[in-house]
Amino acid sequence: MADPEPDARPVTLPDDPAERDAVLRERLSPLQYEVTQHAGTERAFTGVYWDCHDEGVYRCIVCETPLFSSDTKYESGSGWPSFWQAIDDGAVETRTDTSHGMVRTEALCATCGAHLGHVFDDGPQPTGVRYCMNSASLRLVRDDGSDTEPTES
Ligand SMILES: [Zn+2]
Repeated sequence: MADPEPDARPVTLPDDPAERDAVLRERLSPLQYEVTQHAGTERAFTGVYWDCHDEGVYRCIVCETPLFSSDTKYESGSGWPSFWQAIDDGAVETRTDTSHGMVRTEALCATCGAHLGHVFDDGPQPTGVRYCMNSASLRLVRDDGSDTEPTES
């Protein structure tokens, strides 16, 4: 498994919740904001990464913490990027989510609390776990150094 590079672009966010919210509204797209801050879900087969097979490290869109390696990404058929393991044990936090009349396990960035998606127990071996993520919560930093962020003018 590839070691994540030391974080080249650390992101500092204001401690004050209102300021932090304002910064994130400004920096994230409306979908990224809705998904990460309000536990939204992008529509299946619409995200940028569900069908992406490039090698690299998927980072949190909010705080840049490495969350998943492309080595553990697999075809789940769900229409969302799916991984069978987080990049390290402490990177992704889980908690019980009882919204929408279901009991699910929510996955969050352990560093900043961004909503990432849900975790299911129907994944492939060796873990049997499926991290069903939103593309909108992730940013792939490819091993060749290219990036999917829109070029800033
Ligand atoms: Zn984060």
